[in-house]
Amino acid sequence: MIPTTPIQSMLQIAILIAVPTLAAADDGYWPNGKAFCVSLTYDDGLPSHIDHAVPQLNAANLKGTFFSPGGATYRWSQDDVEQVRAGGHELAGHTIKHPCARKFDWVKPGNALEDYDDDRMAKELDENLANLVANGVQREIATFAYPCGSTYIGEDKHTYVPLVKERFFAARTTKPGLDIPPSETVDLFDVKTLAGHERDLKYQLDQVTDARAKQGWLVFMFHGVGGDHLAISAEDHQEILRALQEDDSVWVATFQEAAAWVKSKQEVVNTTTTEPLSPESLSPESLSPGE
Ligand SMILES: [Zn+2]
Repeated sequence: MIPTTPIQSMLQIAILIAVPTLAAADDGYWPNGKAFCVSLTYDDGLPSHIDHAVPQLNAANLKGTFFSPGGATYRWSQDDVEQVRAGGHELAGHTIKHPCARKFDWVKPGNALEDYDDDRMAKELDENLANLVANGVQREIATFAYPCGSTYIGEDKHTYVPLVKERFFAARTTKPGLDIPPSETVDLFDVKTLAGHERDLKYQLDQVTDARAKQGWLVFMFHGVGGDHLAISAEDHQEILRALQEDDSVWVATFQEAAAWVKSKQEVVNTTTTEPLSPESLSPESLSPGE
């Protein structure tokens, strides 16, 4: 028998350890063998989030993402912010004044997206981020949702996505759809969503089924839950959580956690030199159209 050197032994052990790890990594895109990912996001810092969404999430041991001014504004008190934090949910950015297009009659004069320039939006995003940080959010990984899904400012409607990219880790739009990161390059500042108040419970659960089949990343966007505007009933919200809880194949992750996973996979692709990059991965990241 040829004696093995310590280095050879170590290499053999390393190979034994490395091979199963690589095999497991090839099994699927999502972590821990999960087939797909769902993120539960809640916009606008609403009282019904505190009354219904947070207690239901806590009871189901699921974590949501709450896009808000980051502190006690809109309609939350500081106590409300503390409750969201205490549940381990993600507190995330949504500006301070929630500017939307001037065409909406509820937009206050001087507070429309058309009234903003880069300086004003930059200051507001900085304030939003500072509130988040003051409430325990790690600055480097804070995420954002565009108010009303609009990504433009000024009378010329130019994009403010670059200002968001300078400050935030990822951003959700209001564009309806499903991102499928295993088979397409996802722009992490243009993440699609499913409006949770749309149609009925069956439709919502069908989207979960579709996301599972496609190994996608389904990002629910809720506003009111059992109250407030664009509401889903508390019962239907509960049913969605129950379906997710009972599904062993789903990874329910905060928007930040899911975005971090997708980003880490993109970085692996970008640093792999053994295979030529696909034309998709070579194309520059496109900004969302400013409409
Ligand atoms: Zn909003």
